[in-house]
Amino acid sequence: MEVSMLCPRVSLLILILSLCSPYKFIQSPMDFGPLNLLPTTTTASSDFGRIFFHSPAAVLKPESSRDISLLLSFLSGSSLSKVTVAARGAGHSIHGQAQALDGIVVEMCSLPAEIEFYKGGEAEISYADVSGGVMWIDLLEQSLKLGLAPRSWTDYLYLTVGGTLSNAGISGQTFKHGPQISNVLQLEVVTGEVHPRFSVTCCFTGQGEIVTCSPSKDADLFNAVLGGLGQFGIITRARILLQEAPQKVKWVRAFYDDFSTFTKDQELLVSMPDLVDYVEGFIVLNEQSLHSSSIAFPANVDFNPDFGTKNRPNIYYCIEFAVHDYQHKNANVERVVEVISRQMRHMVSQLYSVEVSYFDFLNRVRMEEMSLRSIGLWEVHHPWLNMFVPKAGINDFRDLLMDNVSPDSFEGLILIYPLLRDKWDTNTSAVLPDSGSTDRVMYVVGILRSANPEGGCSHHCLQELLRRHRRIADSAGAQLGAKQYLAHHPTPSGWHQHFGRRWERFAERKTRFDPLRILGPGQGIFPRSD
Ligand code: FAD
Repeated sequence: MEVSMLCPRVSLLILILSLCSPYKFIQSPMDFGPLNLLPTTTTASSDFGRIFFHSPAAVLKPESSRDISLLLSFLSGSSLSKVTVAARGAGHSIHGQAQALDGIVVEMCSLPAEIEFYKGGEAEISYADVSGGVMWIDLLEQSLKLGLAPRSWTDYLYLTVGGTLSNAGISGQTFKHGPQISNVLQLEVVTGEVHPRFSVTCCFTGQGEIVTCSPSKDADLFNAVLGGLGQFGIITRARILLQEAPQKVKWVRAFYDDFSTFTKDQELLVSMPDLVDYVEGFIVLNEQSLHSSSIAFPANVDFNPDFGTKNRPNIYYCIEFAVHDYQHKNANVERVVEVISRQMRHMVSQLYSVEVSYFDFLNRVRMEEMSLRSIGLWEVHHPWLNMFVPKAGINDFRDLLMDNVSPDSFEGLILIYPLLRDKWDTNTSAVLPDSGSTDRVMYVVGILRSANPEGGCSHHCLQELLRRHRRIADSAGAQLGAKQYLAHHPTPSGWHQHFGRRWERFAERKTRFDPLRILGPGQGIFPRSD
């Protein structure tokens, strides 16, 4: 639509904006009037997975929530009926979730990186108001200066607040504090909704729906957006709950040669939230997985297992847990670790511990990233699969996994750790396995593969790995009731199945908050309507 065809108020707004901001009117392949649209970039059409490369028609680098609001209002009120919009955080998705084929990608990192703190007194809570494009590492660095930190994390911190809140945000603290979406007090969201006020009075008012929502105000939108896969609105600001930050962390690893003993000990650890602050675990398949998982762990690990042969492999497991120093002001942290580890049944002498700063502990994956970058193994294909598995099915899942993995040649990491269902708010859009039993515990399993084209894994090999992962996901879904986390389903019917009995609510939320299906095309859930 030509700018001149818009109502007079809009033309005036365009004029004002163009005078205020000299580069707001760089022409893109599409003419959207008063918007900072730029030609597409390779960044906007790629992500960490390096599997899909969908090129948008243009990129928006917003300077404020209002720029995003203008874009969505413009699209809602225009005849450009098929144009879609994807928010892009740090682009650490695997399957093109933040991409918009022939649409518009909104680069959230270009919003001003605002972080404002409120430090509560004794009985009050502390929180940070953060722009949606801020990375968790920046929030950590700033909040530590005040002796504070968010309670719930992801393993890797170079992800944006808006990106992880659109999924869930999980790590070893989730059993204790819930996922990141359980630790948000308020959101500012720009929805795809066409407000009746606008459509009645004018073709385009220059205002979109910028809504501040919380559990007590516009709770439906708040719950929809959390875990909402970018389908209902763009998170431009979030209020994140903070706690007193520990100075130091006691970081412990213990090795196992038996899967049941490994999972029983993990369940023991998550049953002690007063003592334990973090619990994860991973499979030790081969020398490479032992080596790469040790890069950030600064202990002298003397574990030299026999991995067996290709036909008869021996597989090991490692539990990782941590204890924060501040929680035990009256107790020695060493003593706390001793009390805990005395109850564990790991391999004899195979328990190692180190004390590290809280920052180094939380930022541990950065060291692995640097190491992989230095040998050219960071920017490779990442056919990852993450699944939530009910406790009752975890042994079968392990067998299914091992039927589809070759221990001697696997490159990457397989994470396994328990989460507690009651730490998740079922009103949010996040999808968990149905609770068929009374089990509080479920597991997350992350098959985090690297597939290096230079190392021989080119197109055919990548497609084969993706096929295997689909086999695992389909079987685990059908037989064990498992659900994908950071899900990818190639068809809308796959998504119906994924949501199961939650589908109707999810679809109803879409109709309310993004009726024209403008948002989140990269997920492939709701094809854009005419
Ligand atoms: P993007 O990939 O840019 O976007 C993801 C989705 O969110 C897209 O659909 C996008 O449209 C939408 N989106 C982005 N920003 C917004 C916004 N402001 N408002 C609305 N929608 C938005 N996840 C965990 O839970 N725990 C982990 O420990 C963990 N570790 C990881 C380690 C690595 C090395 C990598 C690459 C990923 C990891 N992840 C983990 C996955 C990660 O949380 C998700 O991929 C997340 O989406 C990445 O955030 P991002 O900012 O890169 O989002």
